[in-house]
Amino acid sequence: MHVIVLGAGIIGISTAWHLLQQGHDVTVVDRQPDAALETSFANGAQISVSFCEPWANAGAPWKVAKWLLRDDSPLLFRPKLDPHQWRWGLSFLGQCNDAAFERNVRQLVALGRYSHESLKALVADTGIEYQRLERGILHFFSSAADFEAGAQGAELMRRYGVDRRVLGRDEVLAVEPALRAFGPNIHGGTFTPSDESGDAQVFTQKLAALCRQRGATFLYETAVDGIDQAGGHISGVRVRDVHTGLVRTLVGDQYVAAMGSYTAPLLRRLGLWLNIYPAKGYSATMKLKRPGDASVVSLLDDTRKIAISRLGDTIRIAGTAELAGYDTGLDGATARRRCQALVDRYEALFPGVADTSEPNFWTGLRPSTPTNIPYIGRSRIGNLWLNAGHGTLGWTHGAGSGQALAELMSGLRPALSFGFCGEALPAARPFVPVARPSAQQS
Ligand SMILES: Cc1cc2nc3c(=O)[nH]c(=O)nc-3n(C[C@H](O)[C@H](O)[C@H](O)COP(=O)(O)OP(=O)(O)OC[C@H]3O[C@@H](n4cnc5c(N)ncnc54)[C@H](O)[C@@H]3O)c2cc1C
Repeated sequence: MHVIVLGAGIIGISTAWHLLQQGHDVTVVDRQPDAALETSFANGAQISVSFCEPWANAGAPWKVAKWLLRDDSPLLFRPKLDPHQWRWGLSFLGQCNDAAFERNVRQLVALGRYSHESLKALVADTGIEYQRLERGILHFFSSAADFEAGAQGAELMRRYGVDRRVLGRDEVLAVEPALRAFGPNIHGGTFTPSDESGDAQVFTQKLAALCRQRGATFLYETAVDGIDQAGGHISGVRVRDVHTGLVRTLVGDQYVAAMGSYTAPLLRRLGLWLNIYPAKGYSATMKLKRPGDASVVSLLDDTRKIAISRLGDTIRIAGTAELAGYDTGLDGATARRRCQALVDRYEALFPGVADTSEPNFWTGLRPSTPTNIPYIGRSRIGNLWLNAGHGTLGWTHGAGSGQALAELMSGLRPALSFGFCGEALPAARPFVPVARPSAQQS
């Protein structure tokens, strides 16, 4: 069958790859001139299977309220006259309890594991290189109270079979000696040795090139303006050449919507109400002056909720979230402050290691759902499939989300316990909460 994939981020390209593997004809449409030029461009680079807790937990409302007035807070909610923002916010509050947290973590761990296997197989098959480092993720804490909560969170994750180890300060420094200058401020950490890091943009663009070699058609600089429906089916996709303005209709047998945060407004016009809202994040990428003194283990700084990942001779610092609509500006006062805060924090942690004079700043919109669980599966419209809403974990879940959807579309059953669209989640063991771990972020 001929499948039209809308969106060439990590999710769309991974879906295209796995559809080709299943023997389908694939056309990929994106408004950008290449793959991975929006949210998959400069993220935190972490393949974070074992640090996957959603923002929504029983302690989150209190924290968000406390942060409401602080411009530099890790999670900033800017109330707008936007019913979609309020719907998202209310659903988020509905997830802030132990039972929902447990349900969500269970699915995120399952998808993460499946996706990690999928990624490893894909890399083994293709030999794609993308600054991959299989050195684990180290979460370090600068206060005793946060470390205690982090240690309890590790205990919770171990119940799901996640190997998250609790480390004292010396052990943290043994795992990543580059932290030694900041060492006296560190109270402890948690470490997940099986996690990894790598450049999502490089990976996605190389995979897109391989898709093209295997026969996929790419329509770049082509905006999706609308989707036409007739008789309960999608009859075509209206696309526009972004240079000439020429409009035409593309027709396939099946369609996949993988346009990140933009999936929700487009599908609303078809009466499909996906609860995806953009959460703006930032990153700074800097050249290293002293590569030998820079970290190689991917890091999570609990105080600022930022990820720090080594990508060759550069370092990437990423994090913070603003729920403030579809703004991708870097020029406003808040954006400038948030970007500079990433650089300042890096300098405090690793003095003199990076060239802070010319950071590459970037912002992207995480396609966030209140649960952090993506929509993967068939929509109410028979030949329209969804792969969107991957929030903080789209890079981690990219390979597996593509594989799972391609399998579903091919009539196969993906090997993971997950609530695909329209399906109930298989029953779980009763849950006994042990802690209210702080949300991970990057
Ligand atoms: C600061 C930050 C740090 C992050 N860190 C991590 C991390 O460390 N690990 C992790 O796993 N995840 C991380 N993420 C999340 C991850 O980057 C996203 O979940 C992921 O990139 C989403 O991929 P996507 O393919 O759904 O969206 P995108 O990459 O945005 O792709 C969607 C594509 O659709 C196209 N598109 C949209 N609308 C249209 C239209 N109308 N017509 C044509 N084309 C259209 C866009 O051009 C784009 O190419 C981070 C995100 C941010 C912002």
